[in-house]
Amino acid sequence: MTDPDELRRRTRALLDAHDPTGTDRLDFLRARYDAGLAWVHFPHGHGGLGAPRALQAVVDTELAAAGAPDNDPGRNGIGLGMAAPTILRYGTEEQKERFLRPLWTGEEVWCQLFSEPGAGSDLAALATRAVRDGDTWVVDGQKVWTSSAHNARWAILIARTDPDLPKHRGITYFVCDMTDPGVEVRPLRQITGEAEFNEVFLTGVRVPDAHRLGGVGEGWKIAQTTLNNERVAIGGQRAPREAGMVGKVATTWRERPELRTHGLHRRLLSGWVGAEVARLTGERLRQQLTAGHPGPEGAGTKLAFARLAQELSGLEVELLGEEGLSYDDWSMRRPETVDFTGREAGYRYLRAKGNSIEGGTSEILRNIIAERVLGLPAEARTDKDVPWKELAR
Ligand SMILES: Cc1cc2nc3c(=O)[nH]c(=O)nc-3n(C[C@H](O)[C@H](O)[C@H](O)COP(=O)(O)OP(=O)(O)OC[C@H]3O[C@@H](n4cnc5c(N)ncnc54)[C@H](O)[C@@H]3O)c2cc1C
Repeated sequence: MTDPDELRRRTRALLDAHDPTGTDRLDFLRARYDAGLAWVHFPHGHGGLGAPRALQAVVDTELAAAGAPDNDPGRNGIGLGMAAPTILRYGTEEQKERFLRPLWTGEEVWCQLFSEPGAGSDLAALATRAVRDGDTWVVDGQKVWTSSAHNARWAILIARTDPDLPKHRGITYFVCDMTDPGVEVRPLRQITGEAEFNEVFLTGVRVPDAHRLGGVGEGWKIAQTTLNNERVAIGGQRAPREAGMVGKVATTWRERPELRTHGLHRRLLSGWVGAEVARLTGERLRQQLTAGHPGPEGAGTKLAFARLAQELSGLEVELLGEEGLSYDDWSMRRPETVDFTGREAGYRYLRAKGNSIEGGTSEILRNIIAERVLGLPAEARTDKDVPWKELAR
């Protein structure tokens, strides 16, 4: 399927059969998935039509014009951005059949059990163990900073299955049921007062072997697919000009001339140009994606996104002076989405601090760009061939 007109016809047929003004939201989303119009580049039967990824825009434009509901992508960012492409690439037919539809419709939210205390930037050092017991794996360990774990039905999980092998080779990738006995989710409060993320304790959790993604010991390679997609999901979203942080500060600038100074004007212009460069680079990255899977280039867009979000939210707070510092809502909340643009400037400023940590710290992304994009010499690694159990931790 490569014909935009045919895709447009199919989208209109969906709208004719399921008038979005009168159809239940979930029924509409399920019908859209079944018609192959969810993510058109996925295979037939799994929400797609095997079409070029670029044609998704044809569907999205038609549906938006008809006022059709979306699948609330902010609520299940990890599912849509990271779990789905990994399951598509490495999952069995049964796994794709079971997981992708309710993931896409938002009926089942996903989280990512990767980071641990002691295994963040050096993720391959992780200590959560999975020990095989017949047809199941018994998982014990602790994860941390797990966004959405309090809403999640499923998690993508990496765990150590062979401590005798060097750290990158003894890891296996699983899908973990967050409702299983032994999974305990505890909130962690952030600088904003909210608790979007959590500590997750795994005690004797039994994961069926049927929920293993890829081969035993192949977890690191598969995790790279997730992490590369994560960077694109965070930094490479399609956005109109002046969307997000830059739009907020530009609006304040236009509406409040009394706040302007020459110095702030220069910084606003530089931030505006930076945001436009990042937006267009994201567009190019998406065009590359149509030709295959994301490569390390996504590290660049994620890095730029984090730097700009911090610069622009800081500029807005300075522009607003005392008013910009007026954020004082420290009530404990367990939000379902991160709302950058619907909240006040002080909130945005505080939340943006996490942008240079989540999805890989800026320091690590610079290492990736240096090594894998620019081809500069790699960081010295003395632990590459040492069995994990012999590493100092
Ligand atoms: C808002 C938010 C949401 C998150 N959500 C999730 C989630 O859903 N699931 C999940 O699994 N994780 C999540 N994380 C965790 C995140 O991926 C980790 O915090 C991150 O990978 C950094 O690991 P760390 O915190 O252990 O820091 P460390 O690895 O201890 O790093 C500390 C500092 O040292 C620097 N550093 C470390 N090694 C090097 C090096 N070789 N060269 C240069 N500098 C280095 C780091 O860049 C950083 O500045 C989230 C984090 C945040 C802030």
